[in-house]
Amino acid sequence: MKTVNHWIGGKSVEGASGAFGQVTDPATGAVTTEVAFASAEEVDAAVAAAKAAFGTWGTSSLAARTAVLFRYRALLDAHRDELAELITAEHGKVHSDALGEVARGLEIVELACGITLQLKGELSTQVSGGVDVASIRQPLGVVAGITPFNFPAMVPMWMFPLAVACGNTFVLKPSEKDPSAALRLAELAAEAGLPDGVLNVVHGDKVAVDRLLEHPDVAAVSFVGSTPIARHIHGVATSHGKRVQALGGAKNHMLVLPDADLDAAADAAVSAAYGSAGERCMAISAVVAVGDTGDALVAKIRDRAEKIKIGPGDDPTSEMGPLITKAHRDKVASYVHGAAAQGAEVVLDGTGFTVEGYEDGHWIGLSLLDKVSTDADAYRDEIFGPVLCVLRAATYEEGIALINASPWGNGTAIFTRDGGAARRFQLEVQAGMVGVNVPIPVPVGYHSFGGWKDSIFGDHHIYGNDGVHFYTRGKVVTTRWPNPEDGGVDLGFPSHR
Ligand code: NAD
Repeated sequence: MKTVNHWIGGKSVEGASGAFGQVTDPATGAVTTEVAFASAEEVDAAVAAAKAAFGTWGTSSLAARTAVLFRYRALLDAHRDELAELITAEHGKVHSDALGEVARGLEIVELACGITLQLKGELSTQVSGGVDVASIRQPLGVVAGITPFNFPAMVPMWMFPLAVACGNTFVLKPSEKDPSAALRLAELAAEAGLPDGVLNVVHGDKVAVDRLLEHPDVAAVSFVGSTPIARHIHGVATSHGKRVQALGGAKNHMLVLPDADLDAAADAAVSAAYGSAGERCMAISAVVAVGDTGDALVAKIRDRAEKIKIGPGDDPTSEMGPLITKAHRDKVASYVHGAAAQGAEVVLDGTGFTVEGYEDGHWIGLSLLDKVSTDADAYRDEIFGPVLCVLRAATYEEGIALINASPWGNGTAIFTRDGGAARRFQLEVQAGMVGVNVPIPVPVGYHSFGGWKDSIFGDHHIYGNDGVHFYTRGKVVTTRWPNPEDGGVDLGFPSHR
């Protein structure tokens, strides 16, 4: 049995609380790893290490910081496969998907390598006689990151590379379900020359998280996870005076207009709904078929979905892996079992599926539910599994009204050949990330990622310019170097002269 320790002050630290979590290989159902769960005192030790490191890292030169980040980028590039294997072993996603996750995380490291441009301040000269004004941005101090199971490498990389590039130090609390990738990211950062204490990893559950939320030396919290926990994180951390960005769950809609290329739309729907077994916050979980497209589209989706090969993530022929836990698999199955009673047509029922030789894995097949009502549980809840709901709308107006009535607003997509309709959709849809004939519009690193409504709490999206703003605070310096001959007291309010 492997043990995953904390990473504090630049070294591996064994858990002292006596509490451990179990990590399972989703393909076999076997417990492979024990992960230490931090007590409040162990969290305090990590925050203390980060605080001590901030003393020198926060004032280190941009050249010194970016030199580390460039080395880190090269190391991550060289360890892509190893990281992807760690992800597959604990998350279950197929190797190619895990590699994709590493690549998207690497994008943010590359963005952080260019932090010199992002942190360039602004200067206005001669705003009045002999007066200059400069705007600069400075780091916050110790920042905490709390991340979900579904992207065990990418989501931590959305946070700490940019945070440390801005001069902060970081305490990461990764998901306890698949903690090994985050630990490896920290080890590689140390190998790249990141000074001890700049990046710390504490594992654990609510005990560790709640201590981070209230710790007086934590200045800001980045969170990515489900909506109820995001709401909790935002409420508690802001009540302790912290800056918070808390990204929550999603129900992402794809609107298919009658003029769309239905083959392209069906390819996109299958890729976006069932990729990573639907365990993506940007997965398409609801297709809204407009006009008379529904029957043909459902038939095309079914034909494609039936051919998807499900199997262990380390088998190169597998296209979809298992779900993260047995409990989650059973919860996902319950939505499929309850769908018909709530009025849906069950076109594909993936429950009861298993893989020969891996009978204890957390398997479920692909499910497709048609004519789902907006009152049905399968539509109202975030299922986070390979279950695609198709809803019907008579018109574009009916379709967009349906999408905008959703409490979530993470990602969405329109499939059409009509530029005017696509433009209207971009402006009218209430979601943070919009795809036009792109089913999973995850922004590139230099644009920010984030949703609207119950998909986010806090007002900064993650990475890109918003990330830099979140991890720094502004300061404006007004300067005059007076001519000694121009002295004299003036009690008037400073104004432009
Ligand atoms: P989760 O909310 O259960 O857990 C996220 C993190 O919070 C984990 O580190 C976990 O240990 C911690 N946590 C869990 N319960 C807690 C509690 N009661 N108090 C304090 N901390 C707690 O999410 P998950 O199941 O790991 O991940 C899946 C969810 O994340 C989905 O809802 C998905 O949509 C969402 N997600 C959103 C985005 C996004 O960018 N909006 C990205 C990825 C995942």
